[in-house]
Amino acid sequence: VDKGNINLQQQRKSLPVYKLRKRLLEEIRRNSTLIIIGETGSGKTTQIPQFLLSSGIAGSSGCIGVTQPRRVAAVSVARRVALEQGVETGKLVGYCVRFEDVTSSQTRIKYLTDGMMVREAMTDEILSDYSVVILDEAHERSVQTDVLLGVARRAQNLRKLKNLPPLKLLVMSATMDVDKFSKYFQAPALYLEGRQHPVKIYHAVKSQEDYAFSALVTAFQIHRDSPANEDILVFLTGQEEIEAAAVSARQVAKQLDGQGYPPLKVFPLYSALPTHQQLEAFKPSAPGMRKLILSTNVAETSVTIGGIRHVIDTGVVKARTHHPTTGLDVLRVEKVSKAQAWQRTGRAGREAAGKCYRTYTKEEFERMKEMPVPEIQRCALAGVALQLLAIGVDITTFDFMDKPPKEAVDVAVTCLEKLGAVKGSPPQLTTLGRTMSLFPLDPRFTKVILASVEHQCLEEALTVVALLSGESVFTDPPAKRQQAYVARSRVKTSNRSADDVIDTRSLLRLFRSRFASPEGDHVMLLNVFRAYSNTKQKKAWCHENFLHHRNLEYAASVRQQLAMLAERANLEKASCGTNTEQLRKTLLEGLYDNLAELQRDQTYITVSSKQPVAIHPSSTLHGSKPSLILFTEIVATGRCYLRGLIVCLTPFNDREHLHLSETEFESLERNMLTFKVSKTWICAEIYIYIY
Ligand code: ADP
Ligand code: MG
Repeated sequence: VDKGNINLQQQRKSLPVYKLRKRLLEEIRRNSTLIIIGETGSGKTTQIPQFLLSSGIAGSSGCIGVTQPRRVAAVSVARRVALEQGVETGKLVGYCVRFEDVTSSQTRIKYLTDGMMVREAMTDEILSDYSVVILDEAHERSVQTDVLLGVARRAQNLRKLKNLPPLKLLVMSATMDVDKFSKYFQAPALYLEGRQHPVKIYHAVKSQEDYAFSALVTAFQIHRDSPANEDILVFLTGQEEIEAAAVSARQVAKQLDGQGYPPLKVFPLYSALPTHQQLEAFKPSAPGMRKLILSTNVAETSVTIGGIRHVIDTGVVKARTHHPTTGLDVLRVEKVSKAQAWQRTGRAGREAAGKCYRTYTKEEFERMKEMPVPEIQRCALAGVALQLLAIGVDITTFDFMDKPPKEAVDVAVTCLEKLGAVKGSPPQLTTLGRTMSLFPLDPRFTKVILASVEHQCLEEALTVVALLSGESVFTDPPAKRQQAYVARSRVKTSNRSADDVIDTRSLLRLFRSRFASPEGDHVMLLNVFRAYSNTKQKKAWCHENFLHHRNLEYAASVRQQLAMLAERANLEKASCGTNTEQLRKTLLEGLYDNLAELQRDQTYITVSSKQPVAIHPSSTLHGSKPSLILFTEIVATGRCYLRGLIVCLTPFNDREHLHLSETEFESLERNMLTFKVSKTWICAEIYIYIY
């Protein structure tokens, strides 16, 4: 055993959970289900599975499954535990996240996302591979967590009924509504002694208009005043905001570097970032160097990052919300709950006394709600309903911990009916629905893939859906992002003018025009991918064309896996070549409800909910005015913007206008028919599940 490992073993022994090992194992033995509460960093996620393995509680062959709401947590924790066990990741200890399975027949401790475990239940309702299932971060209450709470409990009961070896359940969290969980699982709760150093809290004196800007200003004040070994963690809301802030922060840091400030390294951290880039933020900083981590709420409880002494909490989070009147599922920036604010604060005091700067006032804090609302009560449920049906459960009667609103359930079932995935009452899966459940995608995207067979363009459908599953493949030249940020925070810098912005924009357009298509964004994506596939020096080529090499690589691997699923489902391989109209028809089959039409006054409204919308500047159709467009998602930032657009083949009432062929018109009319029947608007935003 080398010195590094001895060190690791010492670290393990110093964790709070280690002292309680005996008691913990006793309670786990005694109870078929146990709730475990303990501060972030106390060793729940990394140590408890190892205890179970070495103590023999997990049996001699069964697997210990530990679920995480986020990919990065599953991956980073699995690697850490493999390291502690002195084994290669994927052998004794492995992980499984969507589109990435790093496990083998030897795997006994398996970290996986909630969504992956739900997928496993779809083919094996009693979860027979597992002797223990640990539902970690249960307080997060993501849709998949909530589904899994019910599915795991059901598996446990089914095994009892069938006299099969028992399934042990552990429900873990740093913070949660213990009574509610206790009641739902009829299980006792065990509290691990925390290890928390004092954290001094500062509130903004007055309300801040631009929280991201305030956060950066605060970060640089800390940078100026504190020793270099004290790292800073900033909570922001999402990719664009974090990337923009990172660009600004890097620039300022570079300027300060010459002025005797310690070097500052900026790390973005959000789920959509490729995993290995996310993991960069976990590496300890070099001596004399400061880390500034700009993170979404992924750093709130699920991952532990060393070295943090300062937390800057902007008090906001991006949350998925279903809008009952318009029926739209939108991602929106919202205030966090008090519980979340406290968790964020706690991140500053893991290893020593720390400080938390809230960029909101004390009064604003007091007005926050106590607990976040579970996602299942606020988002579209078609995907969940399909998953549950595949497991053999009817969503309308499923015993959720918190029931989703009845209208949302009805809308979900109607959506599946329209897609042809279910029929009857109570709803039953059709053959198509069964096939659809095999794909780890939003049902509407799966429908796009399945429908492509009829339109002879499976190859293209796979490409487009794969590209939509990941992050944008386009990169902006840094200057543009930076300017956008500067403009947003209304900071005037003397050496920048409006002309610069226009110049980079048109430059960008020029670059993109190689791939642009008057047909719309999906065809543009297809053009990008086709060109990418035909290039040898991929990395250099991407750089030249302002394309994101890793995101394209990711899309290519997703595509490969979707192609495998398509093959398994016996879908006929075909390509439409240059006849991309076929692809547009296919998209309409899945996204039939996502239409917006041009009005007399040259503005757009969505067809089914009459919601005023505008074309997002990032769309290749920005600036043009097609009479009918199909959109992929709606982003609500003050106004509602449509992203991911294609030109529809027909306007609604005016067939002559676009010189349509008879068949084209019929195909659209078929879709219109489904429209007219539906009074409720089906979840307009397309959401691809990230497991
Ligand atoms: P909990 O689940 O209770 O929040 P964890 O088991 O995730 O705690 O972490 C326990 C400790 O293990 C952390 O305080 C940290 O010191 C260490 N640790 C966890 N993950 C990593 C990692 N990826 N790299 C380095 N250390 C880690
Ligand atoms: Mg944990």
